[in-house]
Amino acid sequence: MAVKKVKSGGAELFWRREQGWDKLARGEEKKLERYCAEYIGFLSSAKTERLVHDHLLELALKAGFRDLEQVNAEGVKLKPGDQVYRSYGGKTIMLMRVGKKPLSEGLNLVGAHSDCPRLDAKPNPLYQDDDLLLLDTHYYGGIRKYQWVTIPLAIYGVIIKKNGEKVQVAIGDQPQDPVFVITDLLPHLEMEGEKKTLASGIPGEALNVLLGSRAAEDKEDDKEAKEAKDKVKLRVLRLLQERYGIEEEDLFSSELEIVPAGPARELGLDRSMILGYGHDDRVCAYAGARALLDSEAVPQRSQVALVCDKEEIGSYGATGMDSSFLENTVAELFEACGAYCGLNLRRALERSKMLSADVASLHDPGFPSVSSPNNMSRINCGLALTKYTGSRGKSGASDASAEFVAQVRKIFNDKQVHWQSCELGKVDVGGGGTIAHLMARHGMDVIDCGVGLLSMHAPWEVAGKLDTYMAYKGYKAFLESDF
Ligand code: MN
Ligand code: MN
Repeated sequence: MAVKKVKSGGAELFWRREQGWDKLARGEEKKLERYCAEYIGFLSSAKTERLVHDHLLELALKAGFRDLEQVNAEGVKLKPGDQVYRSYGGKTIMLMRVGKKPLSEGLNLVGAHSDCPRLDAKPNPLYQDDDLLLLDTHYYGGIRKYQWVTIPLAIYGVIIKKNGEKVQVAIGDQPQDPVFVITDLLPHLEMEGEKKTLASGIPGEALNVLLGSRAAEDKEDDKEAKEAKDKVKLRVLRLLQERYGIEEEDLFSSELEIVPAGPARELGLDRSMILGYGHDDRVCAYAGARALLDSEAVPQRSQVALVCDKEEIGSYGATGMDSSFLENTVAELFEACGAYCGLNLRRALERSKMLSADVASLHDPGFPSVSSPNNMSRINCGLALTKYTGSRGKSGASDASAEFVAQVRKIFNDKQVHWQSCELGKVDVGGGGTIAHLMARHGMDVIDCGVGLLSMHAPWEVAGKLDTYMAYKGYKAFLESDF
C-alpha cells in the first residue's frame, strides 16, 4: 500500500474524526509497530506501580539520568541538557531534563499514573473455608466485580519481614508458575442469582482468591498437623515459609496485588489493537517517559515526565499527586540549578504547561446510549484531548482554557500528531476525573490528553495501536515546545 505524505496534519483528521493509518508519514508505520511492540513488552512485565517505577528508572539510568537528591547532596550544579530523576517510595518517579530558559519561566510537564484497578490482599488475608484456602481481598479502584471471577490471576507485591528484609512476590506470569482464580457459581444452580443486577451479582466480599486445597498430611510425628483445625492453611503456610521464609504475621506488612495473569497481546485479525491489563494508565505513563527520554538534547524549557501512584483511589497519600511531591521535587531542581527561592518556585509552577496524560473512553457501538454522539473519541483516530472531565454539570472538573487548548492544538497540528476531541460520555450518565485539578491548583495550564480505551477498568482493556503511538508522538511534541 502506498503511503501518502501528510500535508495538513491533524487538523483535517480531527474534523473528520477519521482513522489515520493512510495519513501516516513515510516509514512511520514501521516506527509505530516497533513502539507498540516495546510497549506490549513493558505492559506484560510491569504489572504493579512498583514494577512500572523500576522499569522506567532502569530506562532513565541507561540514558544517563542522575539521582537529583544525590546531585544536591554532592553540591553538583546542573546545566541545560542535564538529566535527573527523583524517585519516591519506590512508586512515584519524575524524570527531568534541564532547559536553556530559567526554571522560573515554567516547565513542560507530562503527568500520568501507574496504579491500576486491581484486588489488594486484606491486612489479614488468609483463611480456610471448608477444604479451600482463600485470600481475602479489598478491591482497589473502580472495578466491575463480575469481570474478575473465573479468569487466571497472578499475585505481585512485597512482604516486609520482622527484620526489615523485603521479599519480592511474583507468581502467575512465568510458564512454570501456578495461577489463581475466583470461583463462580455454575449456571445449573444459578436460578436465584440470574435475577440479580451486574452490580449485585458478585459483591465485594465475594472476591476471594483460591490459593489451595490440599491438607497437611496427618503424620504420626507431626503434632502440629494432627491438631490443626485448618490443615490446608497450615500446609500453604509451610510452603510460604519454605519458599520465602515468612510467617503469617509478615503478611500484615505487605502489599500484595492480585492482577490478571498473562501477557498483553496484539488484538484482531488485522492486529490493529492491543489487549492488555493496565492500559489505564500505563499506556500514557510509558509514552510520557519514552517521549522525554527520546526528546532533543537541550530543550528551551525544562521538561518533566511524571509517573505517580494512587490516582485510581483519589490521588491521596504520600505517593499520590495530592501530596507535595511535585513542589518538593521542583524545589530540589531549583537547588540543583543553583537558584532556589520560594517565589521562583511558585512562579515556575504557575507558568508551567501540562498534559494530564490519562486515558479516555472510546465510543463503543455496543453501548451507543451512553455516548455523546459528536463528542466521543473513536478507535485509532488519534490522541484524545479532553477539555474537561467531571460529572453532572462539570462538577470536579479542571476545565482547560480555550487559549491553552489552542496552543496544544497548534503543537499537534504542526507536528502531524493525529488527535481528536473527547468527552467522557453523555451528560448526566456518569463521569470521572484525573490528576489535572491537582496540578491546576498551582495555577498552571493543564489539559487531559491520552489514549482512548474500550472496556476501561476491565481486567483486559483495549487500546488502538495508532492511538498508542500518537500518545508518544504527541507528548514528545509537547515536551519539546517553547511557550
Ligand atoms: Mn487513569
Ligand atoms: Mn482509571
